[in-house]
Amino acid sequence: MAKMQSQAEMTWPHDWADLDIAWFAGLFEGEGCAEIAKNGGTRLTIRMTDRDVIDRVNVLFPCKNIQVVNPKPVQPHYNQPKTHYAWRISKPERVRLVINLMLPYLGERRRAKCLELLAHLGTRPGTGGPNRLKTHCAQGHEYTPANTYIRPGTSHRHCRICMLEWSTEYRARRRLTGLERPFPGME
Ligand SMILES: [Zn+2]
Repeated sequence: MAKMQSQAEMTWPHDWADLDIAWFAGLFEGEGCAEIAKNGGTRLTIRMTDRDVIDRVNVLFPCKNIQVVNPKPVQPHYNQPKTHYAWRISKPERVRLVINLMLPYLGERRRAKCLELLAHLGTRPGTGGPNRLKTHCAQGHEYTPANTYIRPGTSHRHCRICMLEWSTEYRARRRLTGLERPFPGME
């Protein structure tokens, strides 16, 4: 039986707005890719020719670096392929967090794929499942009651220090870029 969650545990310890998440989920539905890599890791990727859209994604969920893919020049009478920009995250904690956030908005096919990734992450060292007895997160923070967030209805533990770190990056990027919302003027 599920344990009653305290009030603090009911609240995500960061401030992603629902509108931002809904915007992201819709984009991911169309342009995103959730996959289990050959090395067994999981990753979420959005690859587009629109740099401004990728920049907005990166404000919400900062990744290490935006990959720029310059296609090889083709023969003159063909249309020149455009430069692609790829946003990608692969840290298990972050993949799990983003999937959990966008899951309610996804359609059947991507939802099934994301659930597959979550199940896979549950079998990976350091990401839950058999590692329930782990005392520290992947970054070495201790899973004390105060530092542990368990999303209602799941048994996965999230490290609050790591989540706060990422949400601080998110707020800093928002300030830097002046992108308060994907759709400026809306709240
Ligand atoms: Zn941590």
